Amino acid sequence: MRIKTIELFFDKPKEDFYIKNITDDVSKAIKESKMKEGIVNIFVSGSTASVSTMEFEPNLVKDIEKAMEKIAPSDIEYEHHKTWGDENGKSHVRATILGPSLTVPFKDGKLLLGTWQQIVLLDFDVPKRERKVVVQIIGE
Ligand code: ZN
Repeated sequence: MRIKTIELFFDKPKEDFYIKNITDDVSKAIKESKMKEGIVNIFVSGSTASVSTMEFEPNLVKDIEKAMEKIAPSDIEYEHHKTWGDENGKSHVRATILGPSLTVPFKDGKLLLGTWQQIVLLDFDVPKRERKVVVQIIGE
């Protein structure tokens, strides 16, 4: 069994909610590891973003954004704002509920995702920024 850890960096080109399909980046990391079978853990470093899966299509992106507005609305006060004044209480709440990581099995060098299932980075922070994603491949 081998372990390979790599870091990927993604730009968040807009303010507030942003979803990026990172499936190809994870597939490429598995290919480059030359491992054929195992699991890959995808972990976003930071407390205002999450990693999950979805059918990555524009209307579902809008639906998820709407759902997040219901779970942690933009227009309410958060206690967290008293701590740092960084105005991203909603971002933390959303990220904590979804969680920072995802594990996906792979076989024959390919992710065992469903046909309409992609790996996504959900960035809930308010400002534009860069995001570090750690990809750890465990297998042989
Ligand atoms: Zn904060």
